Amino acid sequence: MPREVDVAIVGGGLVGAAVAHGLAGTPLSVALIEPAPPAAGAADWDERCIAVNQASYRILQALGVWPELSRVSAPIVSTHISERGRFGVARFTAAEAGLEALGYNVPIRRIGEVLWQALVRAGRSQLLAPASLSGIGLTETHAVLSLHDGRRLRARLVVAADGMHSPLRGWLGIAAQTRDYAQSAIVTAVRTARPHRGCAYERFTPDGPIALLPKPWAAEENVCSLVWTTPRSGLESRMQCADAEFLAAAQDAFGERLGRFTELGRRQAFPLSRVMAAELSAPRVVFVGNAAQSLHPVAAQGFNLGLRDAATLCELLAVSAGDAGAPELLRRYVELRAPDRSRTAEFTDGLVRLFSNRVPGLRGLRHLGLLALDLAPPLREAVMWQNLGFGGYTPSAARSTR
Ligand SMILES: Cc1cc2nc3c(=O)[nH]c(=O)nc-3n(C[C@H](O)[C@H](O)[C@H](O)COP(=O)(O)OP(=O)(O)OC[C@H]3O[C@@H](n4cnc5c(N)ncnc54)[C@H](O)[C@@H]3O)c2cc1C
Repeated sequence: MPREVDVAIVGGGLVGAAVAHGLAGTPLSVALIEPAPPAAGAADWDERCIAVNQASYRILQALGVWPELSRVSAPIVSTHISERGRFGVARFTAAEAGLEALGYNVPIRRIGEVLWQALVRAGRSQLLAPASLSGIGLTETHAVLSLHDGRRLRARLVVAADGMHSPLRGWLGIAAQTRDYAQSAIVTAVRTARPHRGCAYERFTPDGPIALLPKPWAAEENVCSLVWTTPRSGLESRMQCADAEFLAAAQDAFGERLGRFTELGRRQAFPLSRVMAAELSAPRVVFVGNAAQSLHPVAAQGFNLGLRDAATLCELLAVSAGDAGAPELLRRYVELRAPDRSRTAEFTDGLVRLFSNRVPGLRGLRHLGLLALDLAPPLREAVMWQNLGFGGYTPSAARSTR
């Protein structure tokens, strides 16, 4: 007979691991299936980071993992949004929101590592790793999961956290709407002549946005993460050119706000597309994180949105009595997540379209948009709350700080 658990989580990336850890304090039996759990390693100055917003910071705090992450995180105390060749600028500060930081820039590898270490320490979940799912069958009361190594598992609820290309979506016949942006994000790090002072910069150019975010690196304030959206046609030359040539081109796109760029880190490229699952649930299954929606990184919303999926699901499961995969629980999950998901996806996609477009009329609109963002209080407030992660249903873990 296959082993039986209340909840089986497929995929132990950042979001799947967060769900597993969020359920550690509940009486539910949980299994987490992951082919490649994070490996520990020393931090590098050019390590890839992601921006976690205020809501995510609070959720990570509620999960008990923030104290470790705070040591390797750089606070973002302001943002500065501009368009190359125009004067309009929009600025947001933590002070105007009454916060210490709008968010934090954190090494992505450390988030995974710290969550997995916490899971091991808690000793509450069965960690099936390395292991991967090879198929799923459904009965009225259970999902039956088959692993590649021949093991089988019965679960009341399956949490699909298996990423943008979610094999589970395919096996369950759930369609996904894909939009190929014909762009890649080049992610690297730069040293700059002037300190960033906790400011995250986003500069829109006709080819796509270039972002510089404060990077956690010792006590220096002269190291930034650089995320440069690049059209597919120009990717190879930008990835292959000499460091000096890349630095000069990045400097030209970004300008001199942080002085000269003096050193470049390793370059990594990520093809960009938006993938939206047609459903957030199926009988006995819910989708979270990139398996539910993968977004363009321009607004730094992907993990933040996925973490709200995770926190909302854990909140519902913590108070549910009995069957973890009951239709009522799945329905409530979809009801709570759908508005936040569509608002965040449309907000992100709108930014990509508005700022990637070379149509002359749109330039004026962009200029007005930046001015309005800087000057019109209702719009400022709406964008600020969206970016902080409070634009939709706020899971209880994100409502207060400890
Ligand atoms: C360039 C770039 C910059 C970004 N910057 C930001 C940012 O600043 N802020 C932000 O919030 N987000 C950002 N994001 C988005 C963020 O990185 C993702 O949304 C997030 O990492 C997704 O996590 P996930 O756990 O849902 O998916 P994944 O990390 O893809 O994890 C899926 C997991 O499923 C596992 N899996 C796959 N198939 C199987 C199987 N058959 N069986 C078992 N397991 C399986 C995989 O091994 C993997 O570990 C950025 C993305 C990019 C590309």
